[in-house]
Amino acid sequence: MSDNTQHAAIDLEWANLLSPQRRTVLRGGGLVAALAASGLAGSVLAQDGAVKRAKDVKPAATGKSPWGEHTDTAPTPRPVSVRPGEETLPSKPRAYTDIESYHAHIYFDEDSYQKAALIRKWAAERFQIELGDWNLEPRGPHVTPSFYFGFTNDLLPVIVPWLQLNSLGLTILIHPNTDDPRADHLYYALWVNRSQPVNGYAMKKPGPGEPRVEQIFVNTRPTVKIETSHA
Ligand code: ZN
Repeated sequence: MSDNTQHAAIDLEWANLLSPQRRTVLRGGGLVAALAASGLAGSVLAQDGAVKRAKDVKPAATGKSPWGEHTDTAPTPRPVSVRPGEETLPSKPRAYTDIESYHAHIYFDEDSYQKAALIRKWAAERFQIELGDWNLEPRGPHVTPSFYFGFTNDLLPVIVPWLQLNSLGLTILIHPNTDDPRADHLYYALWVNRSQPVNGYAMKKPGPGEPRVEQIFVNTRPTVKIETSHA
């Protein structure tokens, strides 16, 4: 295969991934020009195969990296798993009755807090739940502002569809409470809309005398009958 045929084949592969509009650009040989115009063509392969930096790119620092000089050949340690018991293929399913209760964490930011306030009000008016405080800063494993409510297992078949239809587009994490908080947040999670990072790696089972999150103390007094299509 000549160099040109090879390039054409690669172009075609890309063209198939891209939109028809871009395909026209590729056919016209305009890809390189488009990249150059966008500034993406700043790095080019030198004769020895290493990437040569464009002149206007801020140069790398001189001196030694604080990470050491041989990080590229360091061994690859296995990180701790978020799976309970570390088993990839357990010999039998886990009993679903290990779930003691659920939490719903509703995430918001400075642009969406009013939506969060509406979901909070609507939920408190309709469900017997344990409604937590506003967390205006990251708290526990939650990396953005949030509030949560806890609920007993019997409400799951109502609260999941209710949150699906009433999320107002916010990101919501629904997690079970078993005896393994790390798995609850990172491995057993159920998301409404897109997911977002959860910093749950350091979570451990609560020690003796520490509060047990799975206990639900109802603190709402519902006053509104939940809406259904058959009223
Ligand atoms: Zn939670």
